[in-house]
Amino acid sequence: MSRDNYVLPENSNRTMGRDAQRNNIMAAKIVADMIKTTLGPKGMDKMLVSSSGDITITNDGVTILEEMEVEHPAAKMMVEIARTQEKEVGDGTTTAVMLAGRLLENAEELLDNRIHPTTIIKGYRKATEKAQEILKELSQTITTNNDEILRSIVKTSITGKGAEPIKEKLSEIIVKAVKQVAENNKADMNNIKIVKVRGGSMEDTELIEGIVLDKERVNNDMPQIVREARIALVDVPLEIKGPETETRITINNPEQLQGFIDREDRILKGIVEKIQMSGANVIFCQKGIDDIAQYYLTKAGIYACRRITKNDMEKLSRATKGKIISNINEITTELLGRAEIVEEIKEGEEIMTYVRGCKNPKAITIMIRGGTEHVIDEVERAMVDGLSVVSSALKEGMIVAGGGAIEIELSRRLRQYSQTFPGRERLAIERFSEALEQIPFTLAENAGLDPIDTITELKTAHDQGRRNHGLNLLTGRIEDNLQAGIIEPTKVKSQAISSASEVATMILRIDDVIAANDNKKGMRPEAFEHLD
Ligand code: ADP
Ligand code: MG
Repeated sequence: MSRDNYVLPENSNRTMGRDAQRNNIMAAKIVADMIKTTLGPKGMDKMLVSSSGDITITNDGVTILEEMEVEHPAAKMMVEIARTQEKEVGDGTTTAVMLAGRLLENAEELLDNRIHPTTIIKGYRKATEKAQEILKELSQTITTNNDEILRSIVKTSITGKGAEPIKEKLSEIIVKAVKQVAENNKADMNNIKIVKVRGGSMEDTELIEGIVLDKERVNNDMPQIVREARIALVDVPLEIKGPETETRITINNPEQLQGFIDREDRILKGIVEKIQMSGANVIFCQKGIDDIAQYYLTKAGIYACRRITKNDMEKLSRATKGKIISNINEITTELLGRAEIVEEIKEGEEIMTYVRGCKNPKAITIMIRGGTEHVIDEVERAMVDGLSVVSSALKEGMIVAGGGAIEIELSRRLRQYSQTFPGRERLAIERFSEALEQIPFTLAENAGLDPIDTITELKTAHDQGRRNHGLNLLTGRIEDNLQAGIIEPTKVKSQAISSASEVATMILRIDDVIAANDNKKGMRPEAFEHLD
């Protein structure tokens, strides 16, 4: 029995000191290495097969990491970086994870040279702060009027993904959508509804001003189109509720049964009359509408859809400026939403309801079309990324040159900065600066270029003051990427650097890992042996 087992449960696993560090760094590095080949426009895709056999083909860092279901705790922390990055900016997940991996790898070297983790952490912290400062300095400012730049941002983020063939079109749709919903440069993504339709090709993806619901009217005899729509948004069912508690109703003769049915009928007729009296000619109901209610609604010439999702109800409420009604008795004209047209349209295999000419012009829908589920999903991922990068660029109002340009310049300036520190801390800042070079290095490597030559050439350009020079993989040349339109929001880089550094230092601070009995899997150094 080991010494630990006097105090820890039997079979629990403990690793300490350098072993713990080495083990954690190795796990982090494995995660970073796994997604490295997907970086950049020439990066490869991964095919992920879930335990139930579902297949995802993607190039998207966060998607890959989430589907991989890693188990090692340090590896999980790396996945967490990707999640944060995705949530905060919607792009740059691979970059962030790779940076963290490289920061740890470099730290390992320093640890081997007997530099204490605390010194490394201090150096990394200083480098991070300085990097943020330099990033601001190197950024160009933009506003909503810079359409061309905003489109370039989308194209840069889409390049290399499955949706690349339609990047021109997507960038137009995305920029238009974000600008339409933006207020004071802040775009509320809740105003943009994404609908996925199978059928057609991805080129048919389009922006629709208004809300599109994947619902049909409940009865074909209802009007197929309603102009000057006055819309009731109702979140209670239009049906008679069954008794709440178990009640027994004894019916002794046919008349009693008829009376019972008649009563239900009268109640529903009354409800529909109230709706009609308010002036509503459309009703969107979050719950069910039963047959009798459908019958009276049809008779009243009202267009009705049922089982609308809560999320869509909220979107409809914002779009039409209608209030969501929970008590039919309180329905009035003032509570109704307005739209110019409500119309049922057949879309490929599906039937949709279009709500157009809404009172609030900020309500829009993007219809993603595609031949297969895989195509639609990949276009959706690109769409979500594109929407986030544009809104993030607008919100911060700052952009930088991509294709490794910003990383090389940051690295160069951090190296200069490191010279102002003595000994060991300087080494840590230098290693931080080196870690940034991994981005252009890998972009070149993934494109089949010589990475060392590329880095050398980039460094020379930057030493000569060409601070926006990066690798342009559309032309294969090293050039001014700000002019070439290879641009990214500053926030993508600042977030990547801060979360990579945060996780790297967090992992470095750990020198003792105690795993409970049933959680040993993946914790032991042996778990990695076959990967060496
Ligand atoms: P991430 O998950 O980090 O966003 P990507 O696979 O999307 O990873 O790659 C992003 C990197 O690719 C960024 O560094 C970006 O500047 C670079 N990039 C995008 N388009 C080009 C291009 N045309 N030429 C060179 N680099 C590009
Ligand atoms: Mg990206």
